[in-house]
Amino acid sequence: MSIRSRLSLMIGGLLVFLTGAIAGGLYMAERNALLQRLEATRKSTLDQFAQTCRDALIVHDELAAISAAQALGRSFGVVQALFANGKGRVLAHSDAREIGGVYAAPKNQRESRPGEHRWTDVSKGDVVALSERVSLGKGPPGTAVIVYSQRSLEELVQKSLEGLWRRILEVSAMALILGLVGAWAVARNLIRPIESLTRATHRLASGDLTHRIVVDRRDELGRLGSDFNLMAGKLGELDQMKEDFVSNVSHELRSPLSAIESYANVISDEWRAERRENIPDYLTILRNNATRLGRFINDILDTAKIEARAVEVKKQPLDAAVVLNDVAALFLPKSREKSIRLSADPVPPKLPLLADPDKLHQILTNLTANALKFTPMGGTVTLRAETADPVSDHRLRESLARVAPERPLASAYVRLSVADTGPGIRTEDQQRIFNRFEQVREIRNTVRGAKGTGLGLAIARGLAEAHGGVLTLKSEPGQGSVFSVVLPGVA
Ligand code: ADP
Repeated sequence: MSIRSRLSLMIGGLLVFLTGAIAGGLYMAERNALLQRLEATRKSTLDQFAQTCRDALIVHDELAAISAAQALGRSFGVVQALFANGKGRVLAHSDAREIGGVYAAPKNQRESRPGEHRWTDVSKGDVVALSERVSLGKGPPGTAVIVYSQRSLEELVQKSLEGLWRRILEVSAMALILGLVGAWAVARNLIRPIESLTRATHRLASGDLTHRIVVDRRDELGRLGSDFNLMAGKLGELDQMKEDFVSNVSHELRSPLSAIESYANVISDEWRAERRENIPDYLTILRNNATRLGRFINDILDTAKIEARAVEVKKQPLDAAVVLNDVAALFLPKSREKSIRLSADPVPPKLPLLADPDKLHQILTNLTANALKFTPMGGTVTLRAETADPVSDHRLRESLARVAPERPLASAYVRLSVADTGPGIRTEDQQRIFNRFEQVREIRNTVRGAKGTGLGLAIARGLAEAHGGVLTLKSEPGQGSVFSVVLPGVA
């Protein structure tokens, strides 16, 4: 059974129960109110009858008492009405034959409450007699009695409630029908987004990562729909990343390998033909490609080490100026090739730098290589070293807290940065490019030659964090980028 039918049935069942309970309660309340009204009427009728008989006896007008009893005897539900004096002699009776006789209450009567007796009359069935003492001045008090037939009373109640019962049933039936239609509409409204989610999940499961749900509500189901869209978007991105990665990796593996293979063939042909003058150049190309291949394999191994938190950091005091100048010198040929002005700013004196020299070199070469790769011809790349203070720099404080929330702040930090005049990076890409294999597609497409694999920044960040530091980025599209590694310094 579908959820919609189950929900409709559940709500419908609840409605039937509620309508039944309300209708039953209403009927019982109305019945009790009617019985109370009847009892009050009977009591006041008896009062009036007793009063009439007393007044009639005072003025010796017994006929008035008799006609009152007879009028009562003709009323609906009254079996008999009588008035007896203090000696029990019947002075007035609804049945004229009983006048003058002696009033004796039936043997099988029982008192249900003061002044009210019940017994069974052979001809009338159950009866209820209401009696009231009537003071007649001197002498013992008389008694006014009205005997009602229980069956005719019940018939009266039944008849009065018949109309009410019908009205209750009609209203309940209407409420029930409306309720069921409402329940069906509510179930439909609730189930519709679940159905569309089910369809969307099915399409996603069959490989269609582009399908999205139309989210037109703000409740939990709306949030579920938005989260589904978000998840589908992320899956799409992952899929794209996988494709990019496979194409990048195969490019990074295949192009140096095929270069090595073809240059090895060329060298062997040239050697055999005894044309040796170009062989040193070919060997350089061969070595460069072998280096590129080795670098890629090292990147993969470094990434695995960082993920396993197995990076070993051997810190030692370093001279920041030497570190920056080494990196600048390394990339000078490359920067000239692209007509980019690469320089290292003067380093402030007594900069307390403590780091693993190889790892720091790896971070800075990665950042500088990126800066040169993405900065267009004629741009500048500047290396800089300075002290950093997380107490006054809240962005740095937040970055450090995000990486290691439980680690207390060091007393001194050093910032080594690489600033370029390249394309800059959009805010929405600034976090994700630090994840492995993530690249900015548009920026990557501007690069000529090797496109990279998206591992460099992930490795640089992992190495910075292994030092107890962070890798930060400040950038705006069109304004260039500043990548900084901030490391704890010597206290
Ligand atoms: P790769 O350079 O191999 O693509 P990285 O992890 O070093 O991998 O960089 C990831 C991405 O970050 C790059 O593909 C590029 O889109 C972006 N990026 C990195 N450095 C810069 C920079 N200096 N300027 C603009 N974009 C950059």
